[in-house]
Amino acid sequence: PTPADAPYLRGLNEPQRDAVLTTDGPVLVLAGAGTGKTAALTARLAHLLYTRKAYPSEILSVTFTNKAAREMRERVARLVGDMVEGMPWLGTFHAIGAKMLRRHAELVGLQSNFTILDTDDQLRLLKQLIVAANLDEKRWPARSLAGLIDGWKNKGMTPADVDAGESERFANGRGGELYQEYQDRLKAVNACDFGDLLLHVLTILRTNREVLQQYQQRFRYIMVDEYQDTNSVQYLWLRLLAQERRNLCCVGDDDQSIYSWRGAQVENILRFERDFPGAKIVRLEQNYRSTPHILGAASGVIAHNGGRLGKTLWTETDVGEKVRVIGVWDGPEEARRVGEMIERGQRDGRNLDQFAILVRAQHQTREFEERFIGIGMPYRIVGGFRFYERAEIRDALAYLRVVNQPADDLAFERIVNVPKRGLGDKAVQTIHRFARATGSSLMTAAARILDTDELTGAARKSLGRLVGDFARWRDMAQGLPHAELARQLLDESGYTAMYQAEKTAEAAGRLENLTELVRAMEEYESLGAFLEHVSLVMDNEASAEEPKVTIMTIHAAKGLEFDTVFCVGWEEGLFPSQRSLDEGGTASLEEERRLAYVAITRARRLAVIFHAANRRIYGQWNSSLPSRFVGELPPEHIETETTMSGGESLWRANWSERADPFADVARGTGRGPGWQRAASQGSTFTTTPSRVVEARASAISLGNKGRSDLSTGQRVFHQKFGYGTIETIEGNKLEVLFETAGQKRVLDSFVTPG
Ligand code: ATP
Ligand code: MG
Repeated sequence: PTPADAPYLRGLNEPQRDAVLTTDGPVLVLAGAGTGKTAALTARLAHLLYTRKAYPSEILSVTFTNKAAREMRERVARLVGDMVEGMPWLGTFHAIGAKMLRRHAELVGLQSNFTILDTDDQLRLLKQLIVAANLDEKRWPARSLAGLIDGWKNKGMTPADVDAGESERFANGRGGELYQEYQDRLKAVNACDFGDLLLHVLTILRTNREVLQQYQQRFRYIMVDEYQDTNSVQYLWLRLLAQERRNLCCVGDDDQSIYSWRGAQVENILRFERDFPGAKIVRLEQNYRSTPHILGAASGVIAHNGGRLGKTLWTETDVGEKVRVIGVWDGPEEARRVGEMIERGQRDGRNLDQFAILVRAQHQTREFEERFIGIGMPYRIVGGFRFYERAEIRDALAYLRVVNQPADDLAFERIVNVPKRGLGDKAVQTIHRFARATGSSLMTAAARILDTDELTGAARKSLGRLVGDFARWRDMAQGLPHAELARQLLDESGYTAMYQAEKTAEAAGRLENLTELVRAMEEYESLGAFLEHVSLVMDNEASAEEPKVTIMTIHAAKGLEFDTVFCVGWEEGLFPSQRSLDEGGTASLEEERRLAYVAITRARRLAVIFHAANRRIYGQWNSSLPSRFVGELPPEHIETETTMSGGESLWRANWSERADPFADVARGTGRGPGWQRAASQGSTFTTTPSRVVEARASAISLGNKGRSDLSTGQRVFHQKFGYGTIETIEGNKLEVLFETAGQKRVLDSFVTPG
C-alpha cells in the first residue's frame, strides 16, 4: 500500500503528517500540550519501519520514561505488526547509554559486566573518600558532593573539566580532586553511576573516531520525545550522533520544561536551529486531549510567563465543564472532597484508572493515602513509595516501635546503626549471638553485653549510649505527648541531623516527610494506637489488576493524560513552592508556572483545582493563601466554589457534621477579622489564630477517642467491606463482623450506621 492509506497515518492532521513523512533532514516539532506530538513521533517510527527506510536496529528513539518506551513499542507493534522485531534502541537516555557503554566499556577503563551503583552505594563510596581526605563529613556531607558530581556529569564535565571555581563549591576547593578520586575508585571496582551512563558514552564518542562513525552510520534516524527536558550531556550526545546523517526529529514544548533542577536546558530548543541549519520546524496547534475550558485555563496561566516561544492552541472537543476551583478549610477536607468526587464518578460508571491526583510535593500524598485507605478506595502512588513505605518513615517508626516494645528485634536491628554510630555488622552479629544464647531480645542482650568484653571499646560506648537513650525515651513516653516524644527522639538520636547535614532537595523532602509523620501522630490517642493504625494501613495493598486512582507528582505526570485530574494544594508556599519563592527572581517561579500548565493539561474532561485555607506544614498549622496561579486562571473558564468565605452554609455543614464541641469558638474567631487580616497580609502565622485551629484539631482527635453514635451490635456500612455488625469498640477502632468480608478491624470514622 502507498503511505497515504497506511494505517499509521489514519486520522493524523496535516502538520502531523508532515512531521511523520518528512523523514530526511532535521525536524523540530514545537507544540503545546496534547497536540499529538508523541502520537506523531510514534507514527513516524511506524512509517520508517513500514516503508523499510530503516531496520528496527537503525533507529534511535528516546523517551522520557521506561513506561513511555514500553507504550511506544506496543503502539508501533499494533500499527505495523510483526515488522517490528524488537527495537533495540528505543528507550530512555539512560537505558540507551547503558547499552552503548556495555559494548565499549573497555574504552573508558571498565569491563562490559560493570555494575551500576544505586544512590546508597554511591553515597557510601563518597563518604569513604571524604573521610579518607581528612574532611569532616558532617560539614561536607557525601550527599552534597553527590549532587555536585551529578550536576557536572549532566553538563558533560569530566574531572578534567572542573575548574577552580567549580571545585570551590565543595570543601574549600577540593571538589574536583574528590570527583577524580571517585571516578578512579569506580573504575577500580568496575562500576559506574547513573551519570556515567551518559558521560562515559559521550567521552567514548568524542575520543574514538571509529566508534563515533560506526554509530553515525548505524543510526539512520534519531527521534527524541520531551526534547525540552534534555540536559547538556544528552544534547551533546545527540548532536554528535546526528551530525553525519542529520535525520534528527525532536518534539517538545518549551512551556513544559520542568526539569531544570536536574540540569535540563530549554535552550536546547533554541540551539536546534543553529546547530542544524535548515531544520524544518513543524507546529501543531490542534489539541486533541482537553476541552476548551481546560485549555483556556492552562493557556491563561502560562501566558504570565515571559520569554516564551509562543504557540496557538485550539480544540474541537465539546465545551464540557469549566475548570472547578474549590477552596476548602484544610488538608483533610481537601482529601475528603476529592474522595467524594471520585466516588460520585464511580457511581456514574467511571473507571478509577481515569482519575489522577497531582501533587507538587511528595509529602502531600499522605493525606490522600490515609483517606483512601479509610474508605477502601484503591490507589497507586506513581514514582514514589507509599508514605509509610518510605525509608525515613520506616526508620522513624522503627525507633518508635522499640520505645513502645523494646523486644521488637526487627525494629531494633533496623536503626541500631542509623544514623551511623559505629555499630557495624560485626557488633550486631555479636549482639545477635548473645541474644540467641540467652534467649532474650536484642535490646536485652544489648544491655547485658555492655558488662562484657564482647565488643570493642568504641562499640560498647556507643551501644551503651543507645541503650541509655532508649531507656530515657521510654521514661519520657510516660509524661510527654507522644508526638512530642517522637520529635525529641528524632532529634536526640541524631536522625534528623543526618538529613539536615545533607542540604539537598532530597534530604529536605525526607525531613518534610518526618514532620508530616509527627503531625499524623497527633491525631492518635497514644503511641500504641498510632503504631497499630500504621500496621493496619500497611496491610492495605490493593491487587495489581484492579483499577486504581493514581496519585503522583506533577513531574511524574508529564506526557500522561487522565479523564479527571485533581490539582491539589494550590497555595502560596506549597505551589509555587516555598523554595521557589525564597529564591526570588523569575526563573524558578516561571518553572513552577510551567508545572501548573503541565498539571492542568493532563486533564481530558475535567480539571479540579483545590486550595486549603489552613495547611499543616512542618508540623504547624499555617493559614495559607490561594496560589497566585489560581488568580491567573481566566474567570471565564473557571467555576469557583468555596467553603470558606461566602459559603457559610457549606462551612457550617462541615462543622455540624462532626458534632464539634469547639465549633462555636472556632467559627467565631476563625472567621473573624483577625483571620482575614492575617491572611490578606500574606503572612503565615502560627501563634494566635492557630490556637483556634489547634482547638479544632484537638476536637477532631477527641473524635478519635470513639464515636458516640456507634455501639456494639449495631449494623454499619463500610465502603470496602460492605455491611457488618459491630462486635467490639476500642477507642476509635472497631471489630466488625462483615456479612461477606468476615471479621475485620476498621476505623470508626470510615463506617456509617447502616
Ligand atoms: P504532551 O505535550 O502532554 O506530551 P502530546 O503533544 O504528546 O502531549 P499526545 O499525547 O500525543 O500529545 O496526544 C494527546 C491525545 O490526543 C492522545 O489521546 C492522542 O491519542 C490524541 N491524538 C493525537 N493526535 C490525534 C489526531 N490526529 N486525531 C485524534 N486524536 C489524536
Ligand atoms: Mg507527549
